[in-house]
Amino acid sequence: MDTFTKTFGPYQYSQIRIMEFPYANFAQAFAGTIPFSENIGFARNPGDPEDNESVDLASYVTMHEIGHQWFAHQVVPANTKGFNVLSEGLTENAAMTAYEEALGWQKARRLLEQRSIQGYLTARAVTRNEEPPLAKAGNQQFLVYNKASWVFWGLKQYMGEELMQSAIRGFLEEYGTKGPLYPTTKELVDALRAAAPAHLQGLITDYWDRIAFWQLKFSQQPSVSEDGSGKFTVSFTVNVDKTIATEEDGKETSVTEMDDENLDEWIEIGFYTSDPEETLGDEWIKLERLHITELDTELSFTLDERPTHILLDPRRLLIERNVEDNVAKIEP
Ligand SMILES: [Zn+2]
Repeated sequence: MDTFTKTFGPYQYSQIRIMEFPYANFAQAFAGTIPFSENIGFARNPGDPEDNESVDLASYVTMHEIGHQWFAHQVVPANTKGFNVLSEGLTENAAMTAYEEALGWQKARRLLEQRSIQGYLTARAVTRNEEPPLAKAGNQQFLVYNKASWVFWGLKQYMGEELMQSAIRGFLEEYGTKGPLYPTTKELVDALRAAAPAHLQGLITDYWDRIAFWQLKFSQQPSVSEDGSGKFTVSFTVNVDKTIATEEDGKETSVTEMDDENLDEWIEIGFYTSDPEETLGDEWIKLERLHITELDTELSFTLDERPTHILLDPRRLLIERNVEDNVAKIEP
């Protein structure tokens, strides 16, 4: 409640009730009242709070349902394409924010991996239906929950948490607790665009209005040299591509092969002195954000310590399927 009030504005009522009912596996938020099945919450093992590998879905689902007191019960979407992104998607962002604040970044990063990323990638791989861009999503759970959660995660790191959440708060203040005209994803995306700097407008288009996939890898493995003053220079070449899928059949084309399109990407690179797998990419010694405009880009960085690993997009801000080639181990 504290996180939501601080981030999005006041709760509407003087109390909140969470009610247990037997069996079943769902919860639902009514105004001020959340019926909660025992299987999804009360009888569920929350896992070890100290273990970053364990996901606490009992807490997450509770946060999600409380989040609906803002998104669905304050701001009500227009009944058109994208409507459920304004309800479930914004609620997923709220719940992830509360989860991270309560349990820390690494647990949030693990939850993102298991729920949002795998949910989106697995479901889209097996779905036979057409996939619309996020802003035009219907009721597809893998879009309105999972992709939306991933997109808000990426956007908040690129824009800054404060800036993105205050844009959402402004959207809620403009359209919340009012009658018609009800907002659509267009009004939400407009609010995000208005708050975002010019260089992120293309990313917002990719996240919301297109089906975009990034592919990051090393086209030349890193090498390290030590200069006389105890500093280390690490050099490598990254290969970055972005494909856009069509709505009808999912056929993908690289932007480098499309008319009037260019690579214009912002990617992050993390440098580590131990295997980043152990901390889910957290605890870098240096994190760089770079503007990439070519398929292959030669890079060179000077560090105070000898890195053992380099990880491309360590926080998983970009919609990328295969990240196994995003890591390079540097032989001593
Ligand atoms: Zn929900």
